[in-house]
Amino acid sequence: MLEKALSQLPPKAEKRERFELPELSSSISGNRTILHNFSDICNRLNRDKNHFLKFLVGELATSGSIDGAKASFQGNFNYRVFQKLLDRYIQEYVFCPICHQPDTSIVKKGRFYHLVCDACGATSSLRSI
Ligand SMILES: [Zn+2]
Repeated sequence: MLEKALSQLPPKAEKRERFELPELSSSISGNRTILHNFSDICNRLNRDKNHFLKFLVGELATSGSIDGAKASFQGNFNYRVFQKLLDRYIQEYVFCPICHQPDTSIVKKGRFYHLVCDACGATSSLRSI
């Protein structure tokens, strides 16, 4: 019965289903905040780790570095702060503004970055980080 219901879903809904993010895992260590599954999140988003890091340090107005699969940030930040920033990053740098699908990639043209959508073919300019 469940299988039948699933097969009747339009392909769009199925795509949204596949775009489930892992939950952010962070902890505070001294005066730094560690994001444990940083690498995993970048893989799910299909985004460059340095791009996401640059976005986070810019928004948090702090410094940060990638350490293997983790990232650490100067200062103590609440889990919810990261969750909010992740949502914003996805809205701005992952979802196509035209068709709202997450099947996009970032392409650099000259000094500018563009979001190219695999679903509808649209190219949108991005705010540089
Ligand atoms: Zn699109």
